[in-house]
Amino acid sequence: MLAGLMQNVPLTLNLIRERVADLYPNKTVTTRYPHAIHVIGYGEVLDRAGHIANFLQDIGITRGERVATLAWNSHRHLELYMAVPCMGAVLHTINARLLGPDIARLLDHADDRALFVDRSIWKTIGHEIDLPRRVRHVVVMEDEPDQMLDPPARAGTTQAHYEDMIRRHQAAFAWPVLSEDEAASLCYTSGTTGNPKGVLYSHRSTTLHTLACLFADGIAMRERDVCLPAVPMFHANAWGFPYAALMAGANLALPCRQTDPTSLVELIEAAHVTMATAVPTVWIGFLDHLRRDASALGRISSLKRLPVGGAAIGRSFIDDFTRYGIEVMHCWGMTEISPLGLTNVERSDLDDAQVRETRTAQGLPIPGCRLRIVDADGARCVTDGKMPGELQISSPWAAGAYFDRAAEEKGLHPEGSFVVDEGRVWLRTGDIATIDPHGYVRIVDRAKDLIKSGGEWISSQALELQLMNHPDVREAAVVARPDPKWQERPVICVALHEDTKELRERFQQDYGSALSEHFPKWQIPQEVVFLTELPKGKTGKIDKIALRTAMQPAQ
Ligand code: ADP
Repeated sequence: MLAGLMQNVPLTLNLIRERVADLYPNKTVTTRYPHAIHVIGYGEVLDRAGHIANFLQDIGITRGERVATLAWNSHRHLELYMAVPCMGAVLHTINARLLGPDIARLLDHADDRALFVDRSIWKTIGHEIDLPRRVRHVVVMEDEPDQMLDPPARAGTTQAHYEDMIRRHQAAFAWPVLSEDEAASLCYTSGTTGNPKGVLYSHRSTTLHTLACLFADGIAMRERDVCLPAVPMFHANAWGFPYAALMAGANLALPCRQTDPTSLVELIEAAHVTMATAVPTVWIGFLDHLRRDASALGRISSLKRLPVGGAAIGRSFIDDFTRYGIEVMHCWGMTEISPLGLTNVERSDLDDAQVRETRTAQGLPIPGCRLRIVDADGARCVTDGKMPGELQISSPWAAGAYFDRAAEEKGLHPEGSFVVDEGRVWLRTGDIATIDPHGYVRIVDRAKDLIKSGGEWISSQALELQLMNHPDVREAAVVARPDPKWQERPVICVALHEDTKELRERFQQDYGSALSEHFPKWQIPQEVVFLTELPKGKTGKIDKIALRTAMQPAQ
């Protein structure tokens, strides 16, 4: 082998940090806190990242150790996005919509050493989080004006206010030279049984994914954009948009927790947002708002592009936004692939009928992603746009294993999520798709037994397990029903020991409170379908496909 002679600059997030310092210190991040709009320059964000890095070093955080966040989309969270990975530690962003005990389990599984938490979140669920002993430091971030540190963290834990911590440490920090293979951040995604799976991004994967977001046939983010990621910063690094904005030099606008239409209109107007991203549920509500309030249209005139993903979208969704002068860019991705894999861009070699046909497809692989569909035996399916198969992906920013703390960085392959074939690792996505001769991928079904409601996963198996503990239940299954607002909502299909009116009423009355001990409110099904017997497949297992089909609206 003859080695190339080019500079071996590691692909780390320090490339973004340095670029921002060199070129974009005056670009801004605008955060819409519930009480005020706050604007700060990227130069100051980097300075404050230096203060945080000094703090983390002082409390003994070393390379590779995990630092957790429990926070909405704010400039402070962005500062941590820079500080933690660039000083060599690993940023573990935790889903703030989970219950306290689940959050404690994640802190434990990730072996987090410090937790940065928004005061509003801490106030609501802090008392439910039994902090693992190894979490030695809690820093509360002031997303609300009041100054109380309430509830106090576990005895033996040091507690600090974020702004105090910043004041007490200096900005100058000797950022280490990192290897591109070092872990940068950690994000858990839902497993089918409800046990989350850790995806450990490396500096290299995140840097490459960031560059991919800037491709013209990717998201095409540019310096002149103002980007509003309305997808939470605890979901796959807010789909990579904050890092992409920093790299491109685009301004950022962050909505904190508020993604209701009124708050978004206010932020889009205040920050002159040009592109915004969220799951379809957010934009369906936004469309309704635009229809009701014509004045809102004038206030969002800067908004031109909406990269939308997380669930499928229909033609009318795209047409409605097009009428308002906003281009919908349909994307597909998953936490395991950082998360961007497909974008729906129009190929120049399509005729008008093909353009119409492919508009609602999930799109073409972005450069750097290779996709294939395979049948039950693992053989490649034909790409005729008709034959469905399991979608598999290979990419430098796709996971090759899940994070397994016991094996530290070695990872297990739970649920057979990976296959080695054709000389490379393929991630099994759990999505069923067709690929047409032009390469457009269309998701047609989901093999994984999960329900996606408003962009968040609900484990049907975990709900079923609890329902089976109910004394009146003989058998139960939870399946998705399509929903105009949330895309999907879970429905309980249940057969009781005795199918009487009394038992049905009793079940209706008390299943909710039984489930609420184990699941957040948004995961609990509102609808129950009583059956005398659940349909079974050949092996005697409950036929969920039949149940799911029965839940589809009549054509
Ligand atoms: P994300 O943050 O992209 O929602 P998740 O890991 O939570 O990532 O979910 C990924 C899954 O969401 C995919 O495997 C697929 O089932 C579904 N999904 C994502 N984008 C789309 C889309 N555009 N159309 C249909 N399903 C989608």
